[in-house]
Amino acid sequence: MISYQIVEHGKPLQRTVLQTPKPQGTEVLVRVTRAGVCHSDLHIWDGYFDLGGGKRFYVRDRGCVPPFTLGHEPSGIVEALGAKAKGAKIGQRRLVYPWIGCGKCAVCKAGHDNYCVSGTRYLGVNRPGAYSTHVLVPDPKYLIDTTGIDDSFASTLACSAVTVYSAINKLPELGPKDSVAGLGCGGLGLIAISVLRAKGVKNIVGCDIDEAKLAAALRQGAKSVVNTRAPDAAQKLQGMAGAVDLVGSPATAALGIGALRKGGRYVICGLFGGELVHPLPPIAQRAIGIVGSYVGSLQELKEVVALAKKRKLKPSPVETRPADRANEALEDLKAGKVLGRIVLNFEMAQ
Ligand SMILES: [Zn+2]
Ligand SMILES: [Zn+2]
Repeated sequence: MISYQIVEHGKPLQRTVLQTPKPQGTEVLVRVTRAGVCHSDLHIWDGYFDLGGGKRFYVRDRGCVPPFTLGHEPSGIVEALGAKAKGAKIGQRRLVYPWIGCGKCAVCKAGHDNYCVSGTRYLGVNRPGAYSTHVLVPDPKYLIDTTGIDDSFASTLACSAVTVYSAINKLPELGPKDSVAGLGCGGLGLIAISVLRAKGVKNIVGCDIDEAKLAAALRQGAKSVVNTRAPDAAQKLQGMAGAVDLVGSPATAALGIGALRKGGRYVICGLFGGELVHPLPPIAQRAIGIVGSYVGSLQELKEVVALAKKRKLKPSPVETRPADRANEALEDLKAGKVLGRIVLNFEMAQ
């Protein structure tokens, strides 16, 4: 198989020819057709997350040690099955749920692999991922049928859509007049607008520093937009019932928390980096919630796929590029040049 691997953090990925793995036990070998390029791939590529105050979390400490294959938005075709892999057939086109836990702890058994407490096996994070012609999946239960959904858009459901879906599930119950701010209108932000619309939220305020992304937010269904560099941005954002932070920087956190009305909730799922310093009494006095959300569960991904199949989820812009342009895709994403999502296509030239 051909993989595009991190050989040294921060250096270009290298095209590597490796032995194609043979699935054992319940494992399934999937021939990758599409792999989405996610913002968190940039952090894994760099080798760390910025914790603010000069502190860093190094990805090698959670098992991401080069040579390593990125990619946690895989879709493809079932190519081979282990002897105990039940419920999948060779030739099926499937989306792969990548947020796989140990499968044994109480949290995994309750269906929350994404919050596994004893040994995560996240594809493209601490297990070989989808920037490769083949990916090994531990069990057929992590495969989802996406028939009828555009292949490239379908792959982005595995991280960007399920991440925002899970974050939006953590908002308080919303009335018809309630407003929700989406902080950041990149790949996550645009699909967040689609998910909010699909859930019946009408008053969506798209926030970004880039006018092109704000224009895309309006096309995606935001009712209004705010350029957060404007001096009156904080004032314009007052009274939100919810704020979903798809960036996760000190600036967006301050804006999002400051925008909440009493009883409102700020949900952070962006991983840009930095630290939060906030006075404590107003958190109690305003009865606000500050909640983290990380990717989503297998059940949530199935719900997102069902919404997309029913055409209730307006696709965000997706640009498909041949897989051998993976480095260029990461560079463009890092430079902020990507509108929506880039998806690598492994059916085009290698
Ligand atoms: Zn991601
Ligand atoms: Zn577990």
